[in-house]
Amino acid sequence: MLSMLMKYSQEKHCCPHCSQDLSLCHAPPVHVGDGLGWGSEYLFICLNDSCPMFVKGWDFIADQYGRVGSYRYMELPNSKEQFSMMVITKDAFTGSIVDLEAIKRQDERYQRQQEAIAALDTCVAKKDPAPVLTILLDDSVRIDERKRAIPMLTAINDTCCIEPLRNHVFKDPHLQHEVNLALGQILACHYLKECPHCSELIKARAIVCKHCQREVTAD
Ligand SMILES: [Zn+2]
Ligand SMILES: [Zn+2]
Repeated sequence: MLSMLMKYSQEKHCCPHCSQDLSLCHAPPVHVGDGLGWGSEYLFICLNDSCPMFVKGWDFIADQYGRVGSYRYMELPNSKEQFSMMVITKDAFTGSIVDLEAIKRQDERYQRQQEAIAALDTCVAKKDPAPVLTILLDDSVRIDERKRAIPMLTAINDTCCIEPLRNHVFKDPHLQHEVNLALGQILACHYLKECPHCSELIKARAIVCKHCQREVTAD
């Protein structure tokens, strides 16, 4: 989808009525039965409110059809064929402009996820917690991949994972529980615990926290 959109965004479409660049928009959802499908998910539309086609359209539609509406000039990607699309408000399509930067960010996030998922196979051997953290801290990664990452937490056994995971709110309570168990194991392996007052890592044997000086119970 991104490569196609990037290609479209390079296309130069210009309104023959007002000479302004057309905006790349998401096509409106239409019912097939309406016969209005454009055969494209994206449309180039002139959103210039001063465009003569749009300005004159209101009176034309009122005269011809007795309705409120006007026309926006439109072209399809890969085509210079000219269309006029009826709109019933000035704001129609202004909310449908393709946000290319947002789509790029979404795509980058997806690529990062895929790289992290691929790296799961070797991260234990490399003792690299980064892919495990990427997957566990991203709620949009598939739940089975996130569950697969949890045992790797304890296998890598790195205390640097504790803070970011404690700070993350897991939407899935089961996943949260599994992560908590894994973090408990990592702490136990390092003879550590978290101070119940200040959350800093301290020795499991400690009876006074070295960070906040408050009393804690020895494990
Ligand atoms: Zn125009
Ligand atoms: Zn403390």
